Amino acid sequence: MKSQRKEIISYFRQMDRSFFMDSNKELAIFDHALPIGFEQTISQPSLVLEMTLALDLQPDQKVLELGTGSGFQTALLAAFSGSVYTIERIEELQNRAQERLGQLGFQNIHFKLGDGSEGWYEQAPFDRIMVTAAASEVPKELLEQMNKGGKMVIPVGSSFSQELRLIEKDKSGKLHTTLLNEVLFVPLKGKYEN
Ligand code: SAH
Repeated sequence: MKSQRKEIISYFRQMDRSFFMDSNKELAIFDHALPIGFEQTISQPSLVLEMTLALDLQPDQKVLELGTGSGFQTALLAAFSGSVYTIERIEELQNRAQERLGQLGFQNIHFKLGDGSEGWYEQAPFDRIMVTAAASEVPKELLEQMNKGGKMVIPVGSSFSQELRLIEKDKSGKLHTTLLNEVLFVPLKGKYEN
């Protein structure tokens, strides 16, 4: 499997983050999380890239994303995978993200409104899972919905301190966890709320 690392980095560099924001557009160039309304944030760009690279996306893969938010991360996932199944619980954010991603011409993104903390059972298994809100623990439903050879990136911890984990399921179904970074994400609401 060829790594798409170089292509992902150059695509990411030419992305216009302000396109995914409705206000504070002049701040989009800074490497910070920024408010997008409803007490939610568009993630820090360097972290979006780090998390995407950690997933080692392949062009034919099926990806689950929890927390569509602005759609910025969704666009990057959709550009380098086969299809993306993304879940957002706030309807207005979902509508805006869907509109933006449609304008960009993506046809491989499937949207779901609701609580994604238990994954998307009907569409499982997934090759890659990206969680962009922090959970108190790794949802067991997500581990079950992950393919053998699959990878998941997820922030785990309390509401003020989390570790970003890479979880890999090997060919025999065994799980391996790597600590990537210390991070601060908004909470994943629902069953695994921190
Ligand atoms: N990747 C997004 C991050 C948005 S912040 C971006 O960069 O724009 C995290 C998002 O997760 C918020 O939009 C929030 O509403 C959503 N979220 C939180 N808990 C959720 C849940 N249980 N199911 C679906 N979405 C959730």
